[in-house]
Amino acid sequence: MEKTKGQELAEELMLKRKHASEILSEAEAAKADEFCEDYKKFLDSSKTEREAVDTTIAMLKERGFVEFDPSKKYEAGAKVYMNNRGKALVFSIVGKKPLNEGTRILASHIDSPRLDLKPSPLYESSDIALFKTHYYGGIRKYQWPTLPLALHGVIVKKNGETVKVRIGDNDDEPIFFISDLLPHLAKDQNQRTLGGGFKGEELNVLVGSRPFMDDKASEKVKLNILSILNKKYGIVEGDFLSAELSMVPASNARDIGFDRSLIGAYGHDDRVCAYTSIMACLDKENEVPEYTWINILADKEEIGSTGATGLQARYLQYFVEDLAKPHGIEGRTVLQKSKCLSADVSAAFDPTFPEVSEANNVSYLNKGVVLIKYTGSGGKSGTNDSSAEYMQFCRNYMDKANVVWQTGELGKVDQGGGGTVARYIGELCVDTVDLGVPVLAMHAPMEVVAKFDVYETYRAFSEFIRA
Ligand code: MN
Ligand code: MN
Repeated sequence: MEKTKGQELAEELMLKRKHASEILSEAEAAKADEFCEDYKKFLDSSKTEREAVDTTIAMLKERGFVEFDPSKKYEAGAKVYMNNRGKALVFSIVGKKPLNEGTRILASHIDSPRLDLKPSPLYESSDIALFKTHYYGGIRKYQWPTLPLALHGVIVKKNGETVKVRIGDNDDEPIFFISDLLPHLAKDQNQRTLGGGFKGEELNVLVGSRPFMDDKASEKVKLNILSILNKKYGIVEGDFLSAELSMVPASNARDIGFDRSLIGAYGHDDRVCAYTSIMACLDKENEVPEYTWINILADKEEIGSTGATGLQARYLQYFVEDLAKPHGIEGRTVLQKSKCLSADVSAAFDPTFPEVSEANNVSYLNKGVVLIKYTGSGGKSGTNDSSAEYMQFCRNYMDKANVVWQTGELGKVDQGGGGTVARYIGELCVDTVDLGVPVLAMHAPMEVVAKFDVYETYRAFSEFIRA
């Protein structure tokens, strides 16, 4: 049937975002599903920033990357990585163009909200041993009780030896648990607000209940747990002080839905952008890029990018300076010509809670990777707010490569908000914009993404570093 004038004009003038399935071929859809199988494995092996660094370094070494040496001069094709304290990582493939023409930067974060153990966590109360926790990042506290939890992290013993801890993910291992009231006795608790329904000091984790058999000892359940930990890890109670231990969901990544179109997992934010950006740089063996690629996997984004491993620290700047100096080029010259994608997730439209978003500007599951001009809250406060020129660059390269993409905004105006690492890279005079995967139930113990969106994000990163 012939199109009417109005239909033709609408096609020409109106912006319409399509479901990825309308655009992707059957073969591309199958590729997306296959890509996500490896992504799920990455998630299961990388539930903390330290684990994500370990997993990524193993992938890099397999592909011939070597540790960065600031005193060396690197030429095109060199593949290096800089491990920042085991918690953040920068890796790079040096391109053919001189560094003063700029670089292509992908920056994601590999920390996720969770429950950290307090420095002195173990106590006993009425013959039950528990861990005190202090939550890390923006969690909704009521979501964490009565979930199977796993303990991940490191303990640095007094003698300097580091013990890695990872217990609760496998079926033959014990899990940990935060108790909640039974409904029969929750009359008073039910009067609390949703935000205050579970208090921070109530997020206590059950770790044991049998006493050490000795009539004269006190705190016998605690003693028994310490004795088990001493046998298993060789630690004493004081070693908790020099440890980073976190309770994370014990469950592994799973397909969701009869059609298996979605993935439910802990820590999509932001390991989905970490994994897709890593694969964008590694998928073609021995490729020597035009521009130098720099990939950053940052820590501490969830608590404000603070500390020596968060992106407010200067390690990206120092890395670029060290890379450029032997070539007689100043780091700032490189940075000012560089382009960056702040690779982070966006809030997807939730049909159960439509009222928090504005329909024209929210991102949707399965409509592809999300380009986000600004984040922030209360009048764009604290955001990078990308320029019109850079937005043009991004929409252009994605359209050219037929990437399925959409725009997004974090909720309707004055509903709330949030931030990413974009502002800290912007501070180095690098053109930056947020781009990533739409996520349902962000920051919950299980978050949800669509496989098509994961794959299109990988494609968006892939095309960006080659644009
Ligand atoms: Mn994030
Ligand atoms: Mn987050």
